Amino acid sequence: MLIGAHVSPAGGPANAVTRGEERGCRSIQIFNQSPRMWKARVYNDEEVAAFHAAMEASYVVEALVIHAVYLLNCASEDPEIRSKSLESLKVALNAGAQLGAVGVVLHPGSALKDGGPADEAIARAAEVIREALDESEKCPLLLEDTAGAGGTLGRSFEELAALIDGAGGGERLGVCLDSCHLFASGYDVRTAESLRGVIDEFDKVVGCDRLGALHVNDSMTPLGSNRDRHTNLGDGEIGREGMIAFLSEPRFEGLPVIFEGPGRLGKGVEAVDMAWAHDLRSRGLAARLS
Ligand SMILES: [Zn+2]
Ligand SMILES: [Zn+2]
Repeated sequence: MLIGAHVSPAGGPANAVTRGEERGCRSIQIFNQSPRMWKARVYNDEEVAAFHAAMEASYVVEALVIHAVYLLNCASEDPEIRSKSLESLKVALNAGAQLGAVGVVLHPGSALKDGGPADEAIARAAEVIREALDESEKCPLLLEDTAGAGGTLGRSFEELAALIDGAGGGERLGVCLDSCHLFASGYDVRTAESLRGVIDEFDKVVGCDRLGALHVNDSMTPLGSNRDRHTNLGDGEIGREGMIAFLSEPRFEGLPVIFEGPGRLGKGVEAVDMAWAHDLRSRGLAARLS
């Protein structure tokens, strides 16, 4: 398990590796462009070379995850938003291929403003995703499960499976599961036993071979609340036992597991938060051995 954090790539992606090292991250997640603007950020050859050099020199950071920015809505009823989302997704996938990312994490989309049926929104999103894969370099695309607020897609394993099927079901299609989103959308992950059941179900409906990355965040809001409010590991409604279980789940071994914050000091994820996550994992491993 490669426990890591969401870090800033300000100044170029090589700097994200340095920030990961300073925090003790085994993996890092970055946004590939400004989260507030559609403007594409294409990495030049020097930036790509510097990133690979930094990764090779690092004894700590082993994997990169790219998170597509939240502006994207592949399920939108507005054709202009869909075409902007498509372009942006292709840029993210090409950046992922250049940097050798484990994958690009994408929120499948929202039908919030439409109020239309979910299957139509799923079909719209799947079409954009299929096109983005066809027209980009070979980087995996990881659909993230969502808390289920409003009309967001990906609130259930069935919706994720329908999106994957609709997008062609190819090998580049994977999933990123977020502990906070699972819990908020009604999947109880508060103990090792309940988590095992949830992942058994995921395996049946989607398949664990599709798992490409995970987000570990605690939830400020209760089970099934459909609200996406992250809090520090062990401080929320999932609690310490659930975080220990998540960080030692055998089927997550080898995968990047990203903590997104807020962080104990309130300024993003710091070394103290990574140390705490590694500590929780050690407790989980010890408990599973006994
Ligand atoms: Zn996300
Ligand atoms: Zn979230």
